[in-house]
Amino acid sequence: QDRDLIASSGPAQDVEDRPRQQVGVLAIVGRPNVGKSTLVNRILGRRVAVVEDTPGVTRDRVSYDAEWAGTNFKIVDTGGWEAGVEGIDSAVASQAEIAVGLSDAVVLVVDGQVGMTASDERMVAMLRASGKPIVLAVNKVDGADAEYMAAEFWKLGMGEPYPISAMHGRGIGELLDIAMDTLAKTKHTSGLLTPTHLRRIALVGRPNVGKSSLLNQLAQEERAVVNDLAGTTRDPIDEVVNINDEDWLFIDTAGIKRRMHRVSGADYYSSLRTQAALERSELALVLFDVSQPISDQDLKIMSQAVDAGRAIVLVFNKWDLLDEFGRKRLERLWETEFERVTWAQRVNLSALTGWHTNRLTSAMNTALESWDKRIPTGKLNAFLGKIQAAHPHPLRGGKQPRVLFATQASTRPPRFVIFATGFLEHGYRRYIERCLREEFGFEGSPMQISVNIRE
Ligand code: GDP
Ligand code: GDP
Repeated sequence: QDRDLIASSGPAQDVEDRPRQQVGVLAIVGRPNVGKSTLVNRILGRRVAVVEDTPGVTRDRVSYDAEWAGTNFKIVDTGGWEAGVEGIDSAVASQAEIAVGLSDAVVLVVDGQVGMTASDERMVAMLRASGKPIVLAVNKVDGADAEYMAAEFWKLGMGEPYPISAMHGRGIGELLDIAMDTLAKTKHTSGLLTPTHLRRIALVGRPNVGKSSLLNQLAQEERAVVNDLAGTTRDPIDEVVNINDEDWLFIDTAGIKRRMHRVSGADYYSSLRTQAALERSELALVLFDVSQPISDQDLKIMSQAVDAGRAIVLVFNKWDLLDEFGRKRLERLWETEFERVTWAQRVNLSALTGWHTNRLTSAMNTALESWDKRIPTGKLNAFLGKIQAAHPHPLRGGKQPRVLFATQASTRPPRFVIFATGFLEHGYRRYIERCLREEFGFEGSPMQISVNIRE
């Protein structure tokens, strides 16, 4: 009876150069243990396992590309989001809030075997306030004889409860049919699919580095609200900011302005928000406060941005507070701690006074051009032939691995696949990357190089 589920998934940064038309973003929410993760895995298919093997894809990832019956959509996964927070209620609340904010429609999962709980009802109240369309899935209805269990959930007032078994794949096709219909009918309010013609910028950095000051300085009161959550009084999510006659879309400005001191686990959620903003962005402005020592947290956030494969501009803020001693300390750090991002441009500025903020856009444009850049295969191979001749791979066990052929598999960020006769040492890959950067630029963009061994 159940149709085969054909779904595909992949890390967000593996999207093809021209993203396919997406019908919308679906959030899967529900209290812990109702089977959300099982459902997400079922929808994504077994290829989800690949995600874990991809370097740079963190466990905190927020959205996945999926497909159902020829329709592409995104899933916002909230599985595991409750970790790190005390008190189930606050966890469920924050989790739902973030996921729903990012989505166009919501699948609320409840547990048919446990029946209706107070927690389910609270969740419904919150979802209602969001104004997003909701599809109700009653999970753990493992057999046809158990379908009566779903009927109880009519009482939630969310319309028809759809019985499913995420574990056995029952009812998933029907659920997705309904969900796709719902998405097709909604007005897209999700951040994940916001206007594609504008460059999407994430402002990241630990609390107090000056993110909201910089946003205010750049916006100069000329902000436009993009993503007002229908029917709520919440802050806008994203904003268009015009800088020197150019429009940019700043992602999750609500998260930048909102202070999250109230809930326990605030760090966890601010890190999750950072991750979500990075995923939706094309470029990250990574902020540092130069009046303070650079901390592990600063560097971790920077790594998060690089690992997410985003174009990067490093912003050294509060330059007005820097004295001679601080300046020396900073330059020493620059030589050591920032080795990983020597390709990124750095802008020293003061968000407070506006000093040098006019230098940002040229750095941003350069980084995004690099991020989009494609090297024709012929040119790439001619160049690799040349650098290999100049500097062959060292001998390994009497053999010499050779580069046979290479191609740029994708852009945004540039990703190269090298076919070689054997394993290429880390040092040799670094050599190739350095040469590619010297020859072709790529300033401001991370670069991925993978090696495919052909005997
Ligand atoms: P989450 O916390 O909502 O992500 O829930 P999980 O996906 O981790 O599932 C919680 C538990 O419910 C796991 O032990 C699953 O194996 C089980 N489970 C999930 N879906 C089903 C189902 O359709 N039927 C049954 N019987 N168990 C399920
Ligand atoms: P956020 O938490 O990253 O959004 O940081 P805020 O923008 O709220 O800034 C934190 C504090 O640093 C505030 O008191 C700001 O006035 C101050 N601040 C931000 N940028 C600068 C700057 O360039 N110079 C100085 N002196 N103070 C700044």
